[in-house]
Amino acid sequence: MQGELFSAASAIASADPTGEVFDASYTIQGQVEMLALHADGRDQLLVKGAGTEHSFAGRRQGDFLLCPADHQNRLAINALLPYTNPTAIGRDMPSFGLGDRLGLANYAHLLSVKGRTLVPVLAQQSKRELNLTHRTYADVLDAAVWAVVKAGWRSGFGADGDHLKNVEDIQNALALGYSMITLDCSEKLHQPPTDSAARQAAYEQLPADVRHRYEKRYVGLTIPSLGLSFTDEVVKSIAIGYHDAIELAKTVYFTCIRSAGRPVDLELSLDETTFTTSPEAHYFVAQELEEAGVVINSMAPRFVGEFQKGIDYIGDLSAFAVHLQKHTAIADHFGYKISVHSGSDKFSVFSSVGEITGCRVHVKTAGTSWLEAVRVIAQQEPALYRELHRNALKHLDQARAYYVVHADVSRIRPLDNLQDAELPSYLDENDARQLLHITYGFQLEDPILHQKLFDALELHRKAYECCLQKHIARHLDGIGFQKDTNR
Ligand SMILES: [Zn+2]
Repeated sequence: MQGELFSAASAIASADPTGEVFDASYTIQGQVEMLALHADGRDQLLVKGAGTEHSFAGRRQGDFLLCPADHQNRLAINALLPYTNPTAIGRDMPSFGLGDRLGLANYAHLLSVKGRTLVPVLAQQSKRELNLTHRTYADVLDAAVWAVVKAGWRSGFGADGDHLKNVEDIQNALALGYSMITLDCSEKLHQPPTDSAARQAAYEQLPADVRHRYEKRYVGLTIPSLGLSFTDEVVKSIAIGYHDAIELAKTVYFTCIRSAGRPVDLELSLDETTFTTSPEAHYFVAQELEEAGVVINSMAPRFVGEFQKGIDYIGDLSAFAVHLQKHTAIADHFGYKISVHSGSDKFSVFSSVGEITGCRVHVKTAGTSWLEAVRVIAQQEPALYRELHRNALKHLDQARAYYVVHADVSRIRPLDNLQDAELPSYLDENDARQLLHITYGFQLEDPILHQKLFDALELHRKAYECCLQKHIARHLDGIGFQKDTNR
């Protein structure tokens, strides 16, 4: 009886001041009934009718089993409910990446996405983020799946092994069920020397047969419909810049993606580098991959201007629009999506992104969900905010080794000059945002701060959800991901 499960869950949740029953999570599958709730400071699943063939583990309470939202129970629910497993999204469906560094944000993310024509990519962490947060790919996926369960989300979601650079890490993410791999080519990208003799010498490092093929294929090629023309110099520069990345993509595709035994979305990331991806370079890479039989789902070029973490776009908006237009035309030509990385808070370019791509695009965000957590702490727990702020200042220089940002400490108002009520205003200033953004690993590494942070976010769980839902909705509205009444 559905009613019994709801009354039992309410009784358990009501003992916790921040307790809640997630009505949308109610599911019946065969003889098994399930309902998610928050009690005793954590997410749990109340299950009725699970037999020994199901591998749920929890505490017996009369007819029910009260199960922690942990890894083992996540696997049990994955086995029972196919829609709780991540799936490949393909080339046509719009998608949006929602990285969740703390493992607390994906539920609110789903509330933002609900009713819109796009597929969320919930588990999305780079190796850098895993290292800095001391989490594993399994932990990240656990959190995403529990968010799916709580929200009763049945419309599919992706899980992105983000910015992976080698076969071993990719195999690991795939073995855990990740449905998308973002291949980070940054270590294989080489900025061509500006000096022509040095450039020629770099070019001649490539094997002769490769050079001859590239020259024969591309020198003198013009594609007026895409506005592309390849001179001898252009071809040499692209070959120097991208040959190794193309080879890496082939290796990864043939050793990992194609042999995964299920559809996997492969994204090629050319963005984490200092040099802009020219439309010619994009076309060249895509053409080489297509000829080799490599199928990618999306491509992240490095655009003109700067996509720094946690703040708006820096650069000329119309130049960006022209650049995006050219890259989108190339992506359309080959049939995949353009991917925009570091999409957090890029409010001034969102409408161009939506209009130019017709929303057939992938956009990634992550840091902004962490910053909204810091905003809630600034609003609700001023003393803790002050500790975090001081700790961030202490570690900023170390954090710059991981992220390129312009944050200028001298422009951040001294903490002691601000009243408690003014603290949230730091979250509206670029320098302070970047300070708080890139130092997350150092906040989480300190065991005492880590505990205080999670305790505060548990206490203010609803406030965090509310802030986050609104903030992500601003992103989605800006791009133009409309609400679809049929979903
Ligand atoms: Zn990136």
